Amino acid sequence: MKKVAVIGAGQMGSGIAQTVAQFGHEVMLSDVSLELAQAAVGRIDAGLAKLVERGKVDGAEAKATMSRITPVGDYAPMSEADLIIEAATEKEEIKKAIFEAAGKVLASDAIMASNTSSIPITRMANYSPDPARFIGLHFFNPVPVMKLIEVIPGLATAKATTDDIVEFAESLGKEVVLSQDEPGFVVNRILLPMINEAIFVLGQSTASIEDIDKGCRLGLNHPMGPLQLADFVGLDTCLDIIMVLYKTTRDAKYRPAPLLVKYVEAGWLGRKTGKGFYDYSGEMPVPTR
Ligand code: NAD
Repeated sequence: MKKVAVIGAGQMGSGIAQTVAQFGHEVMLSDVSLELAQAAVGRIDAGLAKLVERGKVDGAEAKATMSRITPVGDYAPMSEADLIIEAATEKEEIKKAIFEAAGKVLASDAIMASNTSSIPITRMANYSPDPARFIGLHFFNPVPVMKLIEVIPGLATAKATTDDIVEFAESLGKEVVLSQDEPGFVVNRILLPMINEAIFVLGQSTASIEDIDKGCRLGLNHPMGPLQLADFVGLDTCLDIIMVLYKTTRDAKYRPAPLLVKYVEAGWLGRKTGKGFYDYSGEMPVPTR
């Protein structure tokens, strides 16, 4: 059993906190304020209550899970943590500030991990107190459901850190894929160009939102189409990831689709804002173009 701190209580941080607690670890959850962390804990509780209602989770198990999650308002209590997982917004300057501040309380044998989708681990390790104890721990969305975790050691990550984190990931009932620290790691390096291309196809009016998604579901046997998946990931996160790929490789094939930029500028970020390529305000999602 580990003591884990999760920084960033959005869709990923909340899912990570829930999963880590479900598998018996103690979790502290934080965001930019105690109120936001408390609200996230409230959402986890409500989500679990729904699963209990539907008979998918045992009531006592849900209660035990919630008893292991504590919202915190600052980094001080994280000096107790064996592992700090950063899951804040995909912006390097935000993550840098977090690693520097949380690094001040990181215990001398504790590990710091980032759930970044695309920012180089080797570079971010330098913002932490000890690059040998810094690693990429990339969960997938929704965390309680998705089976995969990518583990990404940076150049300076110690083997003992990687071994410990692989063991931790497996303790959550997940399968691990090890990736070198290259832009986008494995899965997003493949996924994001596909999502971006689907948005180019939409922007060129080659097909409708529904037909692009239907084409990939029925023609490629994907469980959901790329535009629906982009809404799940968050369009701001998609843009941030494709921009990291574009800037780090300087390869024009990663230039973001203008329509993706437009949706983000409109604040239509996908499911988390209620509207992206689909509008989620009614019973059924409705395409927005
Ligand atoms: P999100 O927008 O849902 O949540 C981000 C959270 O970070 C927000 O609650 C925000 O208030 C918080 N935050 C911002 N600045 C902070 C700070 N200084 N300190 C603490 N918290 C802060 O985004 P998300 O989808 O949860 O993504 C979070 C991270 O996980 C990103 O690095 C993203 O690339 C990565 N990720 C996302 C997905 C996905 O499918 N969405 C999958 C894997 C990894």
